[in-house]
Amino acid sequence: MDLFEYQGKQFFASFGIPVSDGDAVTTVDDAVAVADRIGYPVVVKAQVQVGGRGKAGGIKLADNADEVRTHAGNILGMDIKGHTVEIIWVEVASDITEEYYASFTLDRSAKKHLGMLSAEGGVEIETVAEENPDAIAKIWVDPVDGLTEAQAREWVAAANLNPGATEGAVDILQKLYTAYTDGDADLVEINPLIFTPDGRVHALDAKVTLDGNSTFRHPDYEQYDSSQVRDERETEAHAKGLQYVGLDGYVGVIANGAGLAMSTVDIVNQVGGKPANFLDIGGGANADVMAGALEVITNDPNVKSIFINIFGGITKGEEVANGIVTAMGRVDIDVPIVVRLDGTNADEGRAILEPHLSDALMMEPTMVAAAEKVVALAKS
Ligand code: GDP
Ligand code: MN
Repeated sequence: MDLFEYQGKQFFASFGIPVSDGDAVTTVDDAVAVADRIGYPVVVKAQVQVGGRGKAGGIKLADNADEVRTHAGNILGMDIKGHTVEIIWVEVASDITEEYYASFTLDRSAKKHLGMLSAEGGVEIETVAEENPDAIAKIWVDPVDGLTEAQAREWVAAANLNPGATEGAVDILQKLYTAYTDGDADLVEINPLIFTPDGRVHALDAKVTLDGNSTFRHPDYEQYDSSQVRDERETEAHAKGLQYVGLDGYVGVIANGAGLAMSTVDIVNQVGGKPANFLDIGGGANADVMAGALEVITNDPNVKSIFINIFGGITKGEEVANGIVTAMGRVDIDVPIVVRLDGTNADEGRAILEPHLSDALMMEPTMVAAAEKVVALAKS
């Protein structure tokens, strides 16, 4: 789950990380009301789950109510890299002496948490990472040991921050580590982490990804989940209880089991096609589930052909075949379907499909043959 900046700041604040006072709003009038309350100057910030908002014109300083009105009006509804701004965050503006970068994420190959800290934070951090990687001080933290104050201090020294920022940075980095681990985050990033003229260190931006599998430990994460920006196709599929991930190709994919669905996506790619989605119908390949899956897939205008790849296990071949036949009678489908049916009772299943075969419904004996067929049909 990716959080908006304002949610990330609430998350940080709950772990004691200093952030600016502010509020999230959806109208110009409310933006002015917040600014009047917290005091000028303020920053008006577009809330979209994509970086580079500053460069795109989605972050503006305002000295008075008129400027808030202008900026809020311009930013609300703005398109930033395909994301429409519906929420803005208005916060007390900060004076900045230096901009730093700080983050924690998991380094899977090292089996440790990776912390990154740089004195050269701000909107050019990607360029710093590419052209001057030595300017980023890294630390690998053993999850069993955690991050000690001494380690944090050494890390800060290695990053060459302003000496006046040392105490504040050591404190924030330890809190950021706690937020990352206790909060079950996959990523926490502060860019910029600022050092102010009056000597404070402070999070000016927040990028947080929470582990969606940890919500049973954090009932309050429901608030974040409900505001997730989802692919429309995914929302529909999840409502039908299907495991669906939208991709940008043109071959619709239906398989039973996540492993087989992944292999199906792979093989479509391997034979030169592009999958439109990943869809796992799970164990229950009955007519309702199959019809739901076909509805979700055919609602995607990019889909040119559909690959149904079933390996019967607990779900028997004839049940799947009956499911396909019934679902096809219920859903309007104007692209060809290629079925590969194998596993338990495959012969019985194929016999059920046989009388229904046409240009609209084809069957192939193997996964490769079916993939080649379905890709060729999509391209023709
Ligand atoms: P991003 O572009 O999406 O990463 O948005 P940020 O929240 O990081 O803001 C981008 C840049 O705007 C920061 O690096 C700052 O230079 C500037 N900025 C943001 N908030 C303030 C503020 O309160 N005061 C000042 N002076 N600059 C700010
Ligand atoms: Mn930023």
